[in-house]
Amino acid sequence: MEECIFCKIAQDKIDSEKIYENENTVSFLDINPRAPGHSLVIPKKHVKNLINLDDEIVSELFKVTKKVEKLLKSSIEPDAFTIGINEGEEAGQEISHLHVNIIPRFKRDGGGPVQSVVKNPPKKEISKIGKMIRESLKINKTHSK
Ligand code: AMP
Ligand code: ZN
Repeated sequence: MEECIFCKIAQDKIDSEKIYENENTVSFLDINPRAPGHSLVIPKKHVKNLINLDDEIVSELFKVTKKVEKLLKSSIEPDAFTIGINEGEEAGQEISHLHVNIIPRFKRDGGGPVQSVVKNPPKKEISKIGKMIRESLKINKTHSK
């Protein structure tokens, strides 16, 4: 994945404003920040999304997300945080290397909650949707036996 810009950042092939790094993950400031301290946390290994990430690295990625959140809390002193992943082009993912956004939030910063990024309520009742999802869980369990 030679051309991936986040792989290049992870390998120190291009400059970035790194704020934390360990064996499997790195965190750096977003080049086009939505708020002071807007940071990204990525696994060093190239994967597009969470589903493709090894379980051990999933937990490490979130441990590092917590660590960076603490770092930002003590340095930038925001009132709150929005933490989120754009997963897939339709969700706004432009760089196909998994990245967790940590966006410091401030009183009256004009932003909304993560739920406000979409308004597409389902036509079916949630009980039917819940049933559909639980059935797919049973199918997946049978297939993985
Ligand atoms: P996404 O739409 O979720 O793929 O967002 C990609 C994010 O990466 C955007 O917020 C960009 O501003 C940020 N970004 C792109 N290139 C760089 C870079 N070289 N260093 C830091 N952040 C970057
Ligand atoms: Zn990559």
